Amino acid sequence: DNPVHVVGAGLAGSEAAWQLARAGVPVMLHEMRPLRATDAHKTDRFAELVCSNSLRSDDAETNAVGLLHEEMRRAGSLILAAADAHKLPAGGALAVDRDLFAARVTARLEAEPLVTIERGEIAGLPPEDWRNVIIATGPLTSPALAEAIRRLSGEESLAFFDAIAPIVHRDSIDMGKAWFQSRYDKPGPGGSGADYINCALEKPEYLAFIAALLAGEKGDFKEWEKNTPYFEGCLPIEVMAERGPNTLRFGPMKPVGLTNPRADRPPYAVVQLRQDNALGTLFNIVGFQTKLKYAEQVRIFRMIPGLEQAEFARLGGLHRNTFINSPKLLDPELRLKAMPALRFAGQVTGVEGYVESAAIGLVAGRFAAAQALGIATEPPPPTTALGALLGHITGGADAASFQPMNVNFGLFPPAPITSVGKRAKAERKPAMVARARADLAAWLARDQLHPLPASA
Ligand code: FAD
Repeated sequence: DNPVHVVGAGLAGSEAAWQLARAGVPVMLHEMRPLRATDAHKTDRFAELVCSNSLRSDDAETNAVGLLHEEMRRAGSLILAAADAHKLPAGGALAVDRDLFAARVTARLEAEPLVTIERGEIAGLPPEDWRNVIIATGPLTSPALAEAIRRLSGEESLAFFDAIAPIVHRDSIDMGKAWFQSRYDKPGPGGSGADYINCALEKPEYLAFIAALLAGEKGDFKEWEKNTPYFEGCLPIEVMAERGPNTLRFGPMKPVGLTNPRADRPPYAVVQLRQDNALGTLFNIVGFQTKLKYAEQVRIFRMIPGLEQAEFARLGGLHRNTFINSPKLLDPELRLKAMPALRFAGQVTGVEGYVESAAIGLVAGRFAAAQALGIATEPPPPTTALGALLGHITGGADAASFQPMNVNFGLFPPAPITSVGKRAKAERKPAMVARARADLAAWLARDQLHPLPASA
């Protein structure tokens, strides 16, 4: 009766342990706090929220994270049940009393007969006789374990910092101004020579943009983030702009090798967007990692010709964040291809956010439970929020430019719509939500895992 070992009792590990126990599988849950601290956690509780107390929008009709909440509730999530039990008034958002929330998650797991809790750091690869392991050690994975994962997966496959460039919904880009072209028309691997979307800036537009970057309100680096290596390699654009008015024109905004088909002279500067998912619904702004505040990013990036109406699937950022290159390293069931006894879950897989981390914990827990019970399992359909997020990190995302991702409707396959124009736009989301609901219900009904009713 070998237990499944879950390493890390954060958002993902707590959810995974719960799913396993509810499916009738014994779990050993390893948490290093309070014996070893992280730079952000303050308590010894499980599922501690290290910053905001919000699980974001709870509106399943219009927001993908709201839909993810709904799906997790239907799949018997401990994290969502604890959040619902301790929610605070916050308009359409699901905000919680962080102390009561974490205390409830901890108490539920402590009371679960199939869960054994071990306080202590796993300071390297788990012992070989652990045949079914979930690593859910989060963005602040302890250095000893991070180093072991890095040796196993390769230097380039584990990052200690994210450098998040904003991502734009393709259908919100004004292609009357922007154009498709690769620099020097070079076809990259599998490319056509017209793989990038380009937005040209005239000199006055460029100078106004630089001025806005310099004046824009920025977030701060935490003291401990300042000491993290690799920082020079991914400078925020506003820091590049501070180094001189032409730095960006010689960096990510260089205009060479590109011809604006709608102008008779070469562009002064160019912003390039690169396809970000296999579906082609999302494009990231190349080299635009930034510490600008979110509202400032929206305002300033909409100054770029062609992006005036841009809708952002993700805004830019730069944080201390340990994560692996999941699209390259993991199989569709979140197992490390190089060592299938190890499964990954949570923020370390390259999802971003409390809810997304817990969602991947939920799915990993179900996969590990099915494996332990020797029953067939099926990933959630790609048309559901759970499946869209899972599909993104295990294959849909481009491995070469992989960076942490929030759940959003751009990760879902387009829904079939018969209308056109404005009507089609209005019908798209409701069609995706209806499809997700039907497909989730069918998936849960067909699934052979029959978790005990959630009494979280
Ligand atoms: P965690 O919740 O961090 O859980 C990982 C657990 O593993 C921890 O309890 C840790 O102590 C333990 N652990 C680590 N290494 C080991 C080891 N070797 N052995 C045993 N145990 C170990 N997301 C949001 O949605 N909103 C926010 O406001 C937000 N703010 C953030 C602020 C900071 C400073 C950071 C770092 C992240 C923030 N995030 C935020 C991102 C992310 O969603 C959270 O970090 C989330 O907690 C990730 O869940 P997780 O389960 O993957 O990791």
